[in-house]
Amino acid sequence: MSFDMEKTHLQCRECKKKYKPTFKYICDECFGPLDVHYDLPTLTKDSFTNREQTYWRYFELLPINDKSNIVSINAGMTPLVRAEKLGKKIGLSNLYIKNDSVNPTFSFKDRPAGVAISKAKEFGLSSVGCASTGNLASATAAHAAKANFPCYVFAPSDIEHAKIAQALSYGAQYIAVDGTYDDANRIAAQVGDSKGVGIVNINMRSYYVEGSKTLAYEVAEQLNWQVPDQLVVPTGSGAMLNAICK
Ligand SMILES: [Zn+2]
Repeated sequence: MSFDMEKTHLQCRECKKKYKPTFKYICDECFGPLDVHYDLPTLTKDSFTNREQTYWRYFELLPINDKSNIVSINAGMTPLVRAEKLGKKIGLSNLYIKNDSVNPTFSFKDRPAGVAISKAKEFGLSSVGCASTGNLASATAAHAAKANFPCYVFAPSDIEHAKIAQALSYGAQYIAVDGTYDDANRIAAQVGDSKGVGIVNINMRSYYVEGSKTLAYEVAEQLNWQVPDQLVVPTGSGAMLNAICK
């Protein structure tokens, strides 16, 4: 099956059923998660020279059709720093550290949040949110502000307010859920699906995860398109590791 005019399609990870890229994230047949697949154009390393210094330089490898839908706060192309002293200490002669803490909201979450919100705009949605506190809430709120979308951050009612202060400073609304993080996730999913709100890490998740892989593209490009022998990736949920493997 092919879909004209679209550069991607969605495919169920479990039963492999294909779908047009629409606002959905779960397979109708088996409830499996949907992944983005690309009809890739021919690209060489020269394709990316002289492009903007953000992760949107890899536009062909991201799931947005129309560049006018890009919501960018100039994240990405963060420094790859050679760590000579640390390398010497642990016996590695070519150790590099990718410093994603210098992204606009200070974490790598600007990558997935930006892609998810750009896709929400492409779908014609008009509000976004996330179930999270901390880095993801900040990244979602900053991109929502850029897009002029209201942003809803779902989190337990008993969190420390400091965790969410940065997101609120970008104009997000805190939806305090009486319960655990799992409860906040569930409420966010219900509100997202029933009200058409793009919840970046739930109903926009298929697109959200596509943003994280840009970190690996940057590392390769910054090493003059040499792929490192080994990558050490910090894991919280493991989502980053999964995306890097793409
Ligand atoms: Zn399926």
